[in-house]
Amino acid sequence: MPKVVAKKPVAKKPVAKKPVARKVAWDYIVPVKLPADLKGVTPGKLPEHLLVPAVGGGKLHHIAAIAWAAMVAKAKTDGIILKPTSSGDCYRSYASQLAGFKQRYQLAPIAGTSTKSFEGSTWYLKKGMAMLATPGRSQHNLGIAVDVHSASEPKRLAWLVANVKTFGFSWEVVPSEPWHLRYVCGDSLPPAVAAFKGQG
Ligand SMILES: [Zn+2]
Repeated sequence: MPKVVAKKPVAKKPVAKKPVARKVAWDYIVPVKLPADLKGVTPGKLPEHLLVPAVGGGKLHHIAAIAWAAMVAKAKTDGIILKPTSSGDCYRSYASQLAGFKQRYQLAPIAGTSTKSFEGSTWYLKKGMAMLATPGRSQHNLGIAVDVHSASEPKRLAWLVANVKTFGFSWEVVPSEPWHLRYVCGDSLPPAVAAFKGQG
């Protein structure tokens, strides 16, 4: 007797999806050169004379502020609006970094979340919160970092990918923080920034 083999229902082959060309070009990360007048300054405690208003709100170190203004102006001519996510997302004082940190992290353990070590304790990232540097460790505390509003909107991100280097900015943590840019050129202004300063 031939064995009756139950026919398995023929599963339809899944239609092969075309691989999405995902060229991550926005992984441009270079080390920061600090402006000379930031040496020896306590992060989060910048003297007022080093800070100036940033285009779009908040304050930045005076050199980063020029580079940011130059980049915002060029973006505008290309139809892209660049602004900080909020005035607190440019320079942050130690106190405001601490307040933000305590909003997002807690001492009571949470399973499976990311942690930071601060003041000798382990702090746990609360659910749904974005990571934040510990007070004094953020480049926002030096006035050289700015978080760009809606940075991952495709047109804006494409523009940033093509232009941040020209204006002396680079990312710091990708892909998790596409909005976080910091000025990396210290006292030697990139030509596009020097030209903008000359016009001003
Ligand atoms: Zn940031």
